Amino acid sequence: MKTIQILITVPDGVDVKVGGTAAPQQGNSKPFVSQPDPPYPGGTCPEHGTEWKKINAGYSKTKVNEDGTPKRFNAFWVCPEQGCDEKPGRETVIEDVTGLPF
Ligand SMILES: [Zn+2]
Repeated sequence: MKTIQILITVPDGVDVKVGGTAAPQQGNSKPFVSQPDPPYPGGTCPEHGTEWKKINAGYSKTKVNEDGTPKRFNAFWVCPEQGCDEKPGRETVIEDVTGLPF
């Protein structure tokens, strides 16, 4: 086996990684895209029958970005009951047309 030395010249500040799996330099997390507040989704929690409550956009208290800053999130609707995981589904009310009476 021959060993070949390769000299690579890179400008200052450029990170060169040799070997291993090439990880994207931008990180894996998608950049945050701010969205306008979603409108009231309608309906109620299937478990509690309560109207959805809007959580305003803000910063996560538990999740952080790779650089340690709190993750941002857009406004969303939840059940106001403590510990309830129900969320308004993106129900596009599409009629089931498979039962056409022919
Ligand atoms: Zn609920």
